[in-house]
Amino acid sequence: MKKLVARTYKFRIFPSRSVARKLEKTVGACRFLYNSELEYEEQLFFSEGRFVSRDELNLLVPDWKSLNSDLKEVHSQVLQNVSDRLVKSFEGFFRRIKSGEKAGFPRFKSKERYDSFTFPQSGFKLEKGRLRLSKIGMMGIKQHRKMEGKVKTLTIKKASTGKWFANFSVMKEIEVKQKKPDKCVGIDVGLESFYADSEGNKIDNPRWLRKSEGRLKLLQKQHSRKKKGSSNRRKSRLRIAKLHEKVVNQRNDFLHKQSRKLADSCSLIAVEKLSINKMVKNRYLAKSISDASWRRFLQLLSYEVEETGGRIVEVDARGTSQRCICGNRVEKSLAVRTHKCKECGRVLDRDVMSAILIKASALKELKNTAGTAGINACEDVPLGTSMKQEYTGNAQKT
Ligand SMILES: [Zn+2]
Repeated sequence: MKKLVARTYKFRIFPSRSVARKLEKTVGACRFLYNSELEYEEQLFFSEGRFVSRDELNLLVPDWKSLNSDLKEVHSQVLQNVSDRLVKSFEGFFRRIKSGEKAGFPRFKSKERYDSFTFPQSGFKLEKGRLRLSKIGMMGIKQHRKMEGKVKTLTIKKASTGKWFANFSVMKEIEVKQKKPDKCVGIDVGLESFYADSEGNKIDNPRWLRKSEGRLKLLQKQHSRKKKGSSNRRKSRLRIAKLHEKVVNQRNDFLHKQSRKLADSCSLIAVEKLSINKMVKNRYLAKSISDASWRRFLQLLSYEVEETGGRIVEVDARGTSQRCICGNRVEKSLAVRTHKCKECGRVLDRDVMSAILIKASALKELKNTAGTAGINACEDVPLGTSMKQEYTGNAQKT
């Protein structure tokens, strides 16, 4: 079965000094336009209670061009994308009001917060391993992966390290493998390890990643002691940005590998549904979750299962750390790492028990919403007894 999916490719680009100046100018002009449009929208909203549409904004662009001549040097589609971004941020604002969330009026963008521009359809071309941008020029590009699919948009972005990147978003046709839907696994975000699964495995955060994360923390601490506005502080900010970039790359690499492995070996993956509230409330947990980049992992995993034909089921995992699969309540504080049930005698790593419970509640949920294709083999497993047989073997191991 074939399926169309969206993907992005991020490549580093190498503009010459004069081309880099043009890139900077383009970003600056776009930011000027964005803030001008926002100011205009804001005035209208407070005086007349209405918003202008994308088309109306685009009609006003010539006026702003007369105020900032750099805008005249920018590709027209890139300018239209600026209006699109603004309209999108207002749409988000209204959506949040509607759903009763904290809304937050769209904000003016500083240099740090507006660091990219987008060609929504055309105006760019890959030629003999180089990238040509309309009205800007040619530059080197390092394509470390082969790009597959039809390119839709290109966003040029400057990282805080000063490096430039090209992000291509493509629509790609993939062949969904018809995987035999036989293996289901539950996984639990670990506090010490990256995750634990319902089979008793634990995946650790790699040592090299922990090492560079530790160094990053140290640099950040030293940075806060440097005098504001001093050149030492500026230098240390750049050092931090560089190390941060390295950590992000290393982490992505790790997450890519883990998500691929998991998607390849399982057809149904049960995970904990994370609520933002819960993360904010528990600072210790929030930290570890962000460290482990759980959300990013789930995002990558969802890409992977799209291709393997598997699926992810998110379940409410509240209370899984205080229960046993036999139904008994086993209370334990965060410091207690082993689950010991007096009722059924199971002795297991606490995260593994949580993963077992997450798997069980996913299977239960799927049973209740019958008619879901591709998980029949999982459903055949009768819950109570087979779980028992499956895990008593493991029970004494840990
Ligand atoms: Zn038990």
